[in-house]
Amino acid sequence: MTTAPSPPATARSLSSDDGSTTLGAQFRSQMPAYVRGSIVLALFQLSMNRIDWMGKRAVDLLFGDTPEAAARPALMMLLLAVVAFVTRISSRWFIFNAGRDVEYDLRARLLAHLHKLGAAFYRKMSAGEIMSRASGDLLQVRLLLGFGVLNLVNVIFAFVSALQVMSRISLKLTLASLITFPILLVITRSFSKMMFSKTRSNQETLGRLSDMLQGNLAGVRVVRSFALEGRELARFRVANSAYVEASLGLARVRGLMQPIVATTSAAGVLIFFWYGGSMLLAGPENGGLSAGDFFAFWSALLRMTWPIIALGFSISIVQRGRAGYIRLKEIFDAVPEVVDGPEPAPASIAGALSVRKLSFNYGNKRALDAVDLELPAGRSLAIMGRTGSGKTTLALLLARLLPTPRGSVFVDDKDVCSLPVAAVRAAIGYAQQDAFLFSTTVSRNIGFALENPDDEMDRIRAAASEAQVLEEAMALPEQFDTVVGERGVQLSGGQKQRIALARALVWEPKILVLDDPLSAVDAKTERAILDAIDRQSDLRTVVLVTHRVAAAARCDEVVVLDEGKVVERGTHAQLVKAGGIYADFAEEQAMQSELAEL
Ligand code: ADP
Repeated sequence: MTTAPSPPATARSLSSDDGSTTLGAQFRSQMPAYVRGSIVLALFQLSMNRIDWMGKRAVDLLFGDTPEAAARPALMMLLLAVVAFVTRISSRWFIFNAGRDVEYDLRARLLAHLHKLGAAFYRKMSAGEIMSRASGDLLQVRLLLGFGVLNLVNVIFAFVSALQVMSRISLKLTLASLITFPILLVITRSFSKMMFSKTRSNQETLGRLSDMLQGNLAGVRVVRSFALEGRELARFRVANSAYVEASLGLARVRGLMQPIVATTSAAGVLIFFWYGGSMLLAGPENGGLSAGDFFAFWSALLRMTWPIIALGFSISIVQRGRAGYIRLKEIFDAVPEVVDGPEPAPASIAGALSVRKLSFNYGNKRALDAVDLELPAGRSLAIMGRTGSGKTTLALLLARLLPTPRGSVFVDDKDVCSLPVAAVRAAIGYAQQDAFLFSTTVSRNIGFALENPDDEMDRIRAAASEAQVLEEAMALPEQFDTVVGERGVQLSGGQKQRIALARALVWEPKILVLDDPLSAVDAKTERAILDAIDRQSDLRTVVLVTHRVAAAARCDEVVVLDEGKVVERGTHAQLVKAGGIYADFAEEQAMQSELAEL
């Protein structure tokens, strides 16, 4: 059994849903860590500054009359080096951790938000694209808020610390050595712009590539059954080449930037050797440099070289982080279609369901047209109709699994739109037609809704038995502990459907909505499941979407949908007598079963 690692202490307090997800807000949330990190960074650069001055003293003493006196400043240098070591590590600890905490927090918010988004969003953004944003783009944001912030702060302190040494030794030499500095800034700025657009296109092509791979893996059976591996491979190659091209484009910019930046800063060092060397030869008595001055200046100049290069890096990290954040923001900005209502969850729910003038469109297409239903608590209702008549849409709207219009679905006379979504979904259990299984064990699939499924095996077993899947589960190699494979590939369609049914039964909701639970089962299992549904309807309100008359006949009432409208309603007996669509269904299915018996 896998146990989830506990979240970092700082992150835990952040993952509540009240904070803003703007980059600025994330930055501000980490302010205490940044302040602590900046203080130790300042201490680090201060100790480096003192090391330079101690170095000057030690070298001057070494070349003077009392070389043995150099031991004292040399020892001080060692102590300062220890301080520098500790402060450098702790600055990384504070600031990198801030980046990690933001990453943790954003990831948690991302999943919470993705749970709330509806079909409209998932039609626009594929799973592969979302995965790519949740991994690659999030990483860029972490680098921005960790590595990027650290380097930007460090650059400032390093400049102050090194410039203090250099300018005190010789202002002229400082100006000469830093002559390349403005050029460096121009170079890094122009590169960072290129980096931004290249990173964006790189991340986009990666998104498309992951999307295609994900689609191919999920539909691997379809690809194989049509023997289209070759064509799919060719399409994949195109996407793969686009990604390689985009990555190379980015690598070219990055690869060009580093040597250009390093060469330019090396030119500054060259100037130092030429000009500083001549000042050293002149000696301090002639307004030149002592050996100690030369050493300390050189050491300080070297300390500035890395921050200058890091500045280039950091600017590109900031650009990449921003590009990544914009892509994440597209997910955060997607507005959930189904939101909590203002009223609190009712203390208890009896389970009466009523639908009043419910109409629903998919785009311009009308799927339901002024549907009215009344179902007292504890009664059962069958919804019948041809394929495409709107049965599934109606079932989904009951539990607000689609954006249910206000004032159209009521539980115990309360508009479901005025209640918290979780309360509605807890009250209305829904077993979907195309059963989805997680790639875990049979028992965890059935006990998905339970807090600790491993401790509630009796309930799981009872639900499996009710859903007529117990015997088959026990026949699997590791019984309830058998892992069903991705999306349940190891099981038949009927088995998956009954496991999904068991999952809905174990939840024991007040209202149970079953969407065609008999579409993939044989006649014997059908009878057994119908018996189970009979027993369920003694315990709770049941809405059964079905195309089978044998199933509808067992319900207290039957409603027939046609093109989104209720066209017939009554008991099985009444509808058979009425001679409408239901009677046609009954006749057709009676003939089919007679033929099957022959
Ligand atoms: P049934 O369950 O009776 O087969 P559905 O409720 O699935 O019917 O569908 C009702 C109508 O709505 C059909 O015409 C179907 O094509 C359409 N429909 C269903 N789902 C969508 C969707 N996500 N987008 C657009 N149209 C849809």
